[in-house]
Amino acid sequence: MRYLITGGAGFVGSHLAEELLRQGDSVCVVDDLSTGSIHNIAHLKGKPNFQYVIDSCANVHLMAELTDGCDKIFHLAAAVGVKLIVESPVRTIETNIRLTEIVLNLANKKKKPVFVASTSEVYGKSTELPFSEDGDLVMGATVKGRWSYACSKAIDEFLAIAYFKEKKLPTVVARLFNTVGPRQTGQYGMVVPSFVRQALAGAPITVYGDGKQSRCFTHVADVVRAFVGLMSTESTYGHVYNIGNNSEISILDLAKKVRELCNSKSEIVFVPYEKAYEEGFEDMPRRVPNLGKIERAIGWQPSIALPKILTDVIEYCRRDN
Ligand code: UDP
Repeated sequence: MRYLITGGAGFVGSHLAEELLRQGDSVCVVDDLSTGSIHNIAHLKGKPNFQYVIDSCANVHLMAELTDGCDKIFHLAAAVGVKLIVESPVRTIETNIRLTEIVLNLANKKKKPVFVASTSEVYGKSTELPFSEDGDLVMGATVKGRWSYACSKAIDEFLAIAYFKEKKLPTVVARLFNTVGPRQTGQYGMVVPSFVRQALAGAPITVYGDGKQSRCFTHVADVVRAFVGLMSTESTYGHVYNIGNNSEISILDLAKKVRELCNSKSEIVFVPYEKAYEEGFEDMPRRVPNLGKIERAIGWQPSIALPKILTDVIEYCRRDN
C-alpha cells in the first residue's frame, strides 16, 4: 500500500510513517515544517519506500500529484498546540479548514480513502464524561481564541463526514486525546514535554491554574496502531472514533510524578491561566474518552500506561539535549 501522510514530519506523523514502513508499506510525507521538523524524519531518509516533500498542502498542484501517486491518505497537517492556537488564531483557522478542504476535494476525484485526524478539543466544555463520539459538543464564546481550534477541527469533521455521505468518499475521523511520546515538543505548550524539560533542567515546573484539572495521556505508539487499524477496516468509514487512554491524572500529580521520575529538585510553581495563555482563558477541568466504539470496531485498547509513557519521554529528552 502507498500512503500519503500530510503533516508527516510532525510528532504523530513521523511515528505513523515509521510504523507503515515497518509493515512494508510505502510512505510519502508532505510537510511545510511549520510545526513539524526535519529532525523527526531524518532517520527515515534514504529508506527505499520513503519519500518526502517539504511544501504546504495548500499547494494544490503538488497535492494533486501526490494524491494520484498514493492509495490512501492520512491527513494530519494542522495547527496544533493550545499556545500556538491562542497566539496565532488566524493561522489556526485558515490552516485547519483550508488544508482539509483541499485534501478531501482532491482525494474525492480519485476516491482515495482519507483518514482525518481530529482532536478531543472538539468536545469543548462538555461535562458528559466520559466523552462519547455521538455526544454534544459544547463550545465557548467566539472572542475566546481557544475555541477557534475546536470549531475549525469540528468543521473538518463535518466535511469528512459530508464527503462520505454525499460523495461516497471513504473517510474516517479520529479524535485524539492528549497524545504523548518521544519527539513531541513543548514549544507549542504541550504539558508533558514541557514538564520533563523543566524537571531535567532543574527549572521551576509550571502548573497552570490550580493543577486540579486532569487529563488522560496516550502513548503515540498506541495511537498510530489505532490509526492503522481504523484505516484498514472499511466498516469504520463514515464514522468518528475516540483514540485515548482512560486513566486520569491531575496536572499537579503529573508534575510531581515527572519530578520524581527525573530525580529532579525542581520546585512546582502555579501560574494563573491569564498569564500562561490570555485573559479569560477557559480550560477543561477533565477530559476522559469513552473507548467502547473503537474497541468494538477494531478491537483496539491502549496498552502503555503512564509511567512507561513518561520514562520514554524522559529518555528522549535526555538524549536530545
Ligand atoms: N499545562 C500546565 N503547564 C504547562 C503546559 C500545560 O499546567 O506548562 C496544563 C494545561 O493548562 C492543561 C493541561 O496541562 O490543563 C494539558 O495541556 P496541553 O496543552 O498539553 O493539552 P490540552 O489538554 O490543553 O489540549
